[in-house]
This record gives sequence, structure tokens and C-alpha cells, in this order.
Amino acid sequence: MVVLSTPLSKISGMQTRFVSKLKKLGIETVGDLIFHFPVRYEDFSRVYTIEELSAGGEATITATVESIKSRHTWKRGLFLVEAELADETGTIRATWFNQPYIKNILQPGRVANFAGKVVASKSSGEIYLSNPTYELVSEHSYHETKHTARIVPVYSETRGLTSKGLRYLIQPLLKRIPELPELFSGEILEAEDIPEINAALQSVHFPETLDEALRAKRRFAFEDLFFLQLKNILERMKLAEKNAIKIPIDIPTIKALIETLPFELTLSQKKSLWEIFQDIEKPHPMNRLLQGDVGSGKTVIAGLVAHEVAREGYQTAFMAPTEILARQHYHTFIKLFPYYENGVALLTAGESRISYGRGLESITKKAALIKEIAMGKVKIIIGTHALIQKTVAFQNLAFVIVDEQHRFGVRQRAALEQDKEIVPHFLSMSATPIPRTLSLTLFGDLDLSLITELPKNRKSIITRIVLPEDRPRTHQFIRDEVKNGRQVFVICPRIEKPEESDNTEWRELQIRSVKEEYEKLSKTIFPDLKVGMLHGKMPAAEKQTVMRAFSENTIHILVATSVIEVGVDIPNATIMMIEGSERFGLAQLHQFRGRVGRGEHQSYCLLFTDSSAATTKTRLQSLVDAKNGFELAEKDLKIRGPGEFLGEAQTGMPDLAMNAIQNPDLVKHAREVAQTIVTADRTLKKHPLIHERLNEFAKGVHWE
Ligand code: ADP
Ligand code: MG
Repeated sequence: MVVLSTPLSKISGMQTRFVSKLKKLGIETVGDLIFHFPVRYEDFSRVYTIEELSAGGEATITATVESIKSRHTWKRGLFLVEAELADETGTIRATWFNQPYIKNILQPGRVANFAGKVVASKSSGEIYLSNPTYELVSEHSYHETKHTARIVPVYSETRGLTSKGLRYLIQPLLKRIPELPELFSGEILEAEDIPEINAALQSVHFPETLDEALRAKRRFAFEDLFFLQLKNILERMKLAEKNAIKIPIDIPTIKALIETLPFELTLSQKKSLWEIFQDIEKPHPMNRLLQGDVGSGKTVIAGLVAHEVAREGYQTAFMAPTEILARQHYHTFIKLFPYYENGVALLTAGESRISYGRGLESITKKAALIKEIAMGKVKIIIGTHALIQKTVAFQNLAFVIVDEQHRFGVRQRAALEQDKEIVPHFLSMSATPIPRTLSLTLFGDLDLSLITELPKNRKSIITRIVLPEDRPRTHQFIRDEVKNGRQVFVICPRIEKPEESDNTEWRELQIRSVKEEYEKLSKTIFPDLKVGMLHGKMPAAEKQTVMRAFSENTIHILVATSVIEVGVDIPNATIMMIEGSERFGLAQLHQFRGRVGRGEHQSYCLLFTDSSAATTKTRLQSLVDAKNGFELAEKDLKIRGPGEFLGEAQTGMPDLAMNAIQNPDLVKHAREVAQTIVTADRTLKKHPLIHERLNEFAKGVHWE
């Protein structure tokens, strides 16, 4: 018997070459194949008569093969098959290239459906069917079509695996699998106006009408969103049942600490701070996302909370995505809280040090620092993920902050919390401007604090698209800025030029690299200025030296890859120049731009591009126009869809759900349905099917 888990290789009549091709797409079982949905549909449902055909359209006809012949076309070196087709109303020619076997199938006298493009011959003007899909039909018995005379599913095609091939495999399987059990009650199906699972599967592959196909897709999108929400809700509940250390807030101390800061907090910084404090006063773990545009001042919030936690005698771990950022945060803490004397530690793969305030800093051995952490001598520990690996044991960790790397943080936290009754409060900080529906779906298990404004004195950054002819002038402008004491970032899409080989594409070779640009800028264009280079393949110590030189302004121009994408804070840098800017996502470009405009000077973001494509122009222009990250995110979401926006790999979200996110109502309903079910049946005992599927689903959405 054929069930969903049956391997495709066990299906009789399934050719091994298909099995191996499908495997490359991750399709190994009957279930995988059945749930591999079409990306779009073509409407060949109306069968035309030959007389009705006109050039320019697509159509299906039912016709008899009158004659068929094949020949080589010497001019283009192709093998051409030509058939003469007829019905009661007339005759038409059909042509196929390089498919000689067609002659054996479409023998004269046979009747078939032909679906394809109707084109007019350039020389004679006579119309013909170009490369139509054909399907033999019997005049005497009912025959369900797959490829013609219907709404035809089109799958994303890969080498050697065509939509036609997939239809051929899927249609019979749909008939052979046993009826699938339905997850949702009749009321839910009715309320959401979505079809039952078996009907939906049939409709999604072989619909009678386009509307039917769309309703089926809606069902599967709803299902994905439902499980995402269910997972969020249950995680939220599970966390709420755990215990955390209560951190009572001492308002006078906090006020005094805020007084010592070199600036006044913005209103939303204060509000976020307050929300966090209220959370950590509770005996259950905080689980909060602090979202704020680049430069909105999230670090200081983290710092203030960490100090409050330390004052109560507990430890804070602050994790940054890179060593550069960890070091920077460490220095920020020292700078912002110079009077804190109880030890702030930096622990990364390459460095371990402790600062005791007022310039007292000791560089320790890593092992010694780890020991101090275990004994609770240091309360604030800043580092990369090295921090919460197994080797580091905290004495009494009460608070974990994860900067700019949400999913990573969640995974780490899960590792940290396994089987523990008392877990730390958790704060994730992100500048990725995620539109509301998306964040509800992705991070529905988190509470949200928003920093909605930038510090007052910020000048807005002037953004310009720079075309090749404007390069010389722009170089002069950069020189002037440096002469005035300012500094410059130059971002390139990659580290070095690829090895040139026969199949390296010309376009590939055009992409600028850090190494080449560094050579060119330091030797030819700015020989009088100090140019530095930074990329991920450099040894940690070297990166550190370069970053220090740049922060001390002994390097004027820093040529780098996206390693400086997040968080780097050099207030004296005023120009962000991005090479090959069309190669970066808008959210990423916005992050780059956020590296400047952090001090008192007017700053500039220069988007260099050699691409003259209109789409490039539109995208880059939206960066020029958008005032902040959220506005940009909404735009980008519209232009490219959520998968592109966040990077598919970053979300691990099912495609359908990703697209459905643009439908806030569906998201909302999925959430409500999930909530209703959980409220009535917390352990999902009464919903065994949903329970089982949730476990599978949680495995599938891997959050990386
Ligand atoms: P992000 O939110 O992007 O992580 P940072 O925390 O790096 O931003 O802050 C950017 C800069 O703004 C830092 O130099 C920080 O000291 C400064 N800053 C933070 N809050 C304020 C404020 N309220 N007023 C003025 N400057 C501030
Ligand atoms: Mg930051």
C-alpha cells in the first residue's frame, strides 16, 4: 500500500532517474512529493477549435494528427518535428524542436489535446502552435487530463525535472494514497472558508478553476501559520511556568546612574527601560525583543539593566554576534559607566580582560577569567557566543542579552535552559526593522519594546546614488571630508576576486573586492591618505589592530566587507561608500548606512553602482527616500516579499506562510484559532493529530 511515508523508490513504475532528481529537491517520500505544490497555474481549461485560434495567445485544442515529419534545420543545427493537425473547423501546424521521439507518439490518425502558444510565422504570417504540450485522448472513454484542457499546475522546475514530468508522477499518486485525516474541525473550516485536506490536495495540484486552486493554497498557508502561532503560544506558556530571579528595582539608584550619562535618554528609551524593569521584577523570566532603528541607542539600555542586575548581586551575559562588536560594547560600557568598579569582563575567542572602572583594566588569562566568572567575582560579562558555551559556568546568571542575532540567541538560550527550573531573563536587541505582521508571526512568543525615535541631535544622513561617471568628483569629495578630519567606510561585496576560469561569468568578474579596492584606493586614488582593510578572513588580532587604528583616526578610509554591517560605532566616520550596492538587500544597506551619522557631523551614504537596470534604480531610490528602517522595511516587503526581505535561510519559514504574512487577516485568524484550541486543551490531548503535527512542524522550522 502507498502511504505518505512510502519512499518514492518503492513506487512501482517510478523511474530511478526521477527518484534521484527528486531527491536533490529534498523530495524522497510520497508525502514530500504530494506536498510539493505548484508555484503557479496556466489556464488551458477552455478547449478551442482551430478556427478560433489567433496569434499571441495560449490555448488548448483537440485535434487529429493528419501527418507528421521530422528534419534537421541546418541553419540552427536543430532537429525539428512538424505535424499537421485538424479538427472539424480547420487545420494548423505544430512544431517541436529536439524531441524526435514525438514522431513515434503522435502517429497519423491519433487524437490528442495540444496546449501551447499560438504564434505567427515571421515569413508567411501563417499561425502555428509552438512547442505545444500534448496528451493523447481517447474519443471513446472519459479520460482525465493532466497537461491540457484544464487548469494546469506549473512547478518550479529544475534540470531534467519538468512540470510535465511532475504532473505525470503526482496525478496517479493522489489517487493511490489513503484518505488523510483532517486536522481542523468542520466549524473552523467553515469559518475560515477553506477546503478539507483531501479536497485541498486535489485542488492545489489539479484544480477545476483558478479560484479553487487559490482556496486550496489558502488552506495550506493557514495551516502553516496556525502551527507557527501554536508553537509561539505554547512556548510563551512554557516559559511563563518557569522561575526567574526577581530583580527589585531601586528607582533612586537608577535615576542617579542615568544622571551620570553624557546624554539625556529619549522618551522611548525611557519607556523601554521601564518595560524591561517591570518584567524583571517578576519571578518569571522576561522574554522581550527590544527593537529600534540603527543608532537609536539600544546598548545603553542593556547597560543600565545590567547594572541594576549587578547591584542585586547577579550576573549578566551580553552576547554580540562578532568579536569586533563584543569589544566595542565592552568599551562602550566602560565609557558610559566609568564609575562602575565591580568588574566588566570581555570574553571572546581571542581576548579576555576585566575593567574595574576609571581606567583600571587587567588583561587576564582566559582560564583565570572563567574561574572569576564561576566564582561570581565579575557580574557583567560581554562576549561572543563563546560566552555561553559549556566551558563557561556562571555563578548566578540572571540576565542574558543578545545583540543583533535573534534566532541564534533563542537557540543558545534553549541550550542554556534545558531542564532548568530557574532561567535567566532574556532580552534580544535588534535593528532589523521587521514589519508588524511579520514580527507577530516570527516572534509571537516575545514581548516587544520599541524605540521609535533617534536621539535628538542627530542630523539625517544624505543618501546619493553614484553612477560610474560621478566617481572622480565623489573621490574629491571624500578627500575633502578626510582633510576636514572625518573618516570613511568603503564596503565591497566580497573579499577577493574569484579565480578566473573558462566559465567565470563576465559579470562576476566585475564585482569589486576588498583586496582590489584596497590596492587601488591606497596606491592610486588616495596615496596621500591612510587606507586600511578589514574582512572576515583576517586573523582576529589583525582585525583588532585595524579597528583600533580606525577608532583612533590613524586610518582614514576603511575598506571592508559586510563584517561591519551591524553595530560598529565610530562617531567620527561620516561617509559610508558602498560598492556594488545593488548586490545588497535593502535592510542590509540600511544597516551599513547606520554606521555613519552617529556623531555631530553631517554624514553621507554613497551608493555606488555600475548597474543601469531600472529595478536597481527603483530599489536604491527607496533607500534614498525612506526616512527610517520601518518605512523601508514595509517598502521592501512589498517589492520583494518577506522571504527576500529577511533572507529565506534566516527564517526557515514555510514558503506559503511567508507569502501569507502579507495577509494580516489570515495571520490574525490563525493566531485566534491556535489560542482558542490551547485555552480549551492546554496539552492538546483532545487534538492528537494537531499535537503530532506540531512536533513535526517544530522540527521543520529550524530558525537558522
Ligand atoms: P544601536 O541602537 O544601533 O545599537 P547604539 O546603542 O550603538 O545604537 O547607540 C548609538 C550611539 O548613540 C552611541 O554612540 C550612543 O552612545 C549614543 N546614544 C545612545 N542614546 C543616546 C541619547 N539618548 N542621546 C544621544 N546619544 C545617544
Ligand atoms: Mg547596536
